[in-house]
Amino acid sequence: MQLIDATWFMRRDIVSSGYDEALRYISKLIPLKIHKIPSGTKCWTWVVPEKWKIHKGFIDDINGKRILDVKEHPLHIVSYSLPVDKIVTRAELFRHIHTNPRRPHAIPFEFKYYERDWGFCVQHSRLKKFNQKKYRVFIDSEFTKGSLKVGDCTIKGEVDDTIVLVAHLCHPAMVNDDLAGVAVLIDIAKQLRARKNHYTYKILLVPETIGSIAYLSQNEQIIPKLKCGLFFEMLGSNGSHALQLSRQGNTRLDRIARHVMSKRFKKSRVGAFRTIVGNDELVFNGPGVDIPMISISRYPYPEYHTSDDNPSIISEKKLIESREFVLEILGILDRDFVPVRKFKGPIFLSGYDLWIDWRVNDRMNANLDRIMCCLEGDQSAFDISEKLNLEFVVVLDFLDKLYKKKLISKKQ
Ligand SMILES: [Zn+2]
Repeated sequence: MQLIDATWFMRRDIVSSGYDEALRYISKLIPLKIHKIPSGTKCWTWVVPEKWKIHKGFIDDINGKRILDVKEHPLHIVSYSLPVDKIVTRAELFRHIHTNPRRPHAIPFEFKYYERDWGFCVQHSRLKKFNQKKYRVFIDSEFTKGSLKVGDCTIKGEVDDTIVLVAHLCHPAMVNDDLAGVAVLIDIAKQLRARKNHYTYKILLVPETIGSIAYLSQNEQIIPKLKCGLFFEMLGSNGSHALQLSRQGNTRLDRIARHVMSKRFKKSRVGAFRTIVGNDELVFNGPGVDIPMISISRYPYPEYHTSDDNPSIISEKKLIESREFVLEILGILDRDFVPVRKFKGPIFLSGYDLWIDWRVNDRMNANLDRIMCCLEGDQSAFDISEKLNLEFVVVLDFLDKLYKKKLISKKQ
């Protein structure tokens, strides 16, 4: 919540001082390596845009009376607006004004990173004040060579195989989309840093889409190490969780996430790749990269992409709920392995001190026999727990005993 309070109102456009400032703030919370990719760099089929800065922006009526000023709210100006200073007719002005009639009192969020245009975003309810024939529009914006920045916190595990965790940070003066995802991810990073992990974890904070493309295109050597990924956003609002599956749809991560979600929440939603919400998973799970990446959000919510997406619509309780949900998924994924039998015949359970008295735990007594028959190297501990409808930790605990007694080997 402190992070959100401190950074939400910053002008965090994709390549901007506000974005850099937010990343600097985060680097005090978790150690971050900052990758800098200069404006103009060709990244696969994309090009890193220039750094954008807005000095002033307003609309005056013809008598010089100010009707709208970007000083009132950062969202009043279209992100990456071109500079302009001219007298326009009402019709021309209205071609450059964006409103959201469904939320008439909110300012919509609009951006034109690549189209080169100018524009203002206005509360729909204010349009009736624009009742004259001519206006002066003034935007003093600046495009310079800068660097797109990607924050990277890599937490080394026992193996180099890496799980990538992604959130974007480029939505100015809004909270649920996208700072809420960043806040949850930072808390997860802190917890992962505090424990021993099997996998290596790479936490990436990016400007949406172009940041992931810039990072991966300039660091292609990392791609073969990435085993799967999770994308996070919109985790602070009241709605229930939405799990968007990877493009593959049925990887171990997909199944674990589905399992944990249905176990934890009465209400939730699952959807196929790109059917719930579109973000950086199209880069990671897209052509030429194709790392299975799920997305966890609370989409949709009514304040989406407007000035109503402010701290009043999120709560710490919801952020914590999402954090615990994700940590359970990662906990299973990290400890899961495929047990491979080294014995023949049924295990002499009492001889190995593994027998469970059926009078004490009838169900587990029967399950030992069933687990024993699932050790052919084609299913993981999670697969077995799902199949036998047992708690993952119960299966894991028994498999750990078999491993210590050298009755099975482990493969990932
Ligand atoms: Zn968005």
